[in-house]
Amino acid sequence: MKSSPSLFLRAVALIPIFASAVAFANPAAGSASGPTPEAALRLLLEGNQRFIQGTVRHPHQTAERRKETSAGQAPFAVVLTCADSRLSPEIVFDQGLGDLFVVRNAGNLLSDHVIGSIEYAVEHLHAPLIVVMGHTRCGAVAAAVAGGEAGGHVQSIVDSLAFVVAAARARGGDTADQAEQINARMSADALAASDPVLAKAVAAGKLKVVGARYNLATGVVEWLP
Ligand SMILES: [Zn+2]
Repeated sequence: MKSSPSLFLRAVALIPIFASAVAFANPAAGSASGPTPEAALRLLLEGNQRFIQGTVRHPHQTAERRKETSAGQAPFAVVLTCADSRLSPEIVFDQGLGDLFVVRNAGNLLSDHVIGSIEYAVEHLHAPLIVVMGHTRCGAVAAAVAGGEAGGHVQSIVDSLAFVVAAARARGGDTADQAEQINARMSADALAASDPVLAKAVAAGKLKVVGARYNLATGVVEWLP
């Protein structure tokens, strides 16, 4: 048949278009070029394992990577964590330049500025994963558990954690230990439900939000249920 070759050529030409249409239609897929939420989480798990075991690779920290990322960024995860000097997401997850979009403040608190930064990373940079990571022996949480006057602007941090401490006391057990977990968990839940950007991305299967706690002594990132 005379039309066969041209039909074949047309079919070949359609493959890339079809493939990208599938990527957009697949609810498990992230952006067309980036990893899925599950694959992004796996990258962090593997990096943390290397950090714990002392087999770090220090990926993406070359002059070449710096040059490459100067033109644009496509981080595969957003990490909201505490400003504590004893943890740094790029170190504890063994990542490099352009890998993580990091937002930090004492107590890893949510605010409009924080949520806006995260929305930017999800909507414009297509990050498929958000990790809200508290940590053991968090000074902000300890101050909130202790109560009293913190003084200066630190008081606003303590005030923001009051409901977390109340929830931790209601749960029982070690209040600080519970509060560290509840703080990360509640913030992760709030981000996953945040309108108009994040909740929509979660519903579309393009974004996953997880809570975690970093152990200062062992280097282990505990993923919170
Ligand atoms: Zn802290």
